Amino acid sequence: MAIRKLRYEGDPILNKISKPVERMTLRQKILIQDMFDTMYEDMGVGLAAVQVGVLRRIVVMNVDGEHPLVFINPEIIERDGEQTGDEGCLSVPGKVGTVTRPMHVKVRAQDINMQPFELDAEGLLARCCCHEFEHLDGILYTSHVEGELRDVNAEPEIRVEEDEEFQDN
Ligand code: ZN
Repeated sequence: MAIRKLRYEGDPILNKISKPVERMTLRQKILIQDMFDTMYEDMGVGLAAVQVGVLRRIVVMNVDGEHPLVFINPEIIERDGEQTGDEGCLSVPGKVGTVTRPMHVKVRAQDINMQPFELDAEGLLARCCCHEFEHLDGILYTSHVEGELRDVNAEPEIRVEEDEEFQDN
């Protein structure tokens, strides 16, 4: 277990497309554990492998602090509804911005044993899936922000859907 070095906005790797995982290796299992350690260290709720410099389609998430999730080769196969709220990103430290996402998504992915699964995600989990999976295609949330990015400590007077806010991923 180890904390890995995060990549930050401006690092060109964050704009690259991650490659599919064809089979799970010990090396990748260690990477996944390190991704959780790195995410928890920085109080994030989600992390994509590219954020620690590995261009593989791997995402870890723990939105409620109780249910760690691993997504290998994830895709969003359904989306509906809409939610507008704040997002942050471990690769864009100290900033938040308002992004509109689907309220519900259906995800198809593989787990750490490469077994396929589907997940219906709503609210914050749906938002986090959209955000994280876009990292695998080289997209940062900052390209969708409505208005300006804000400093985390500069609290706006009015919060939109405060309960949808999350500190990172
Ligand atoms: Zn992010």
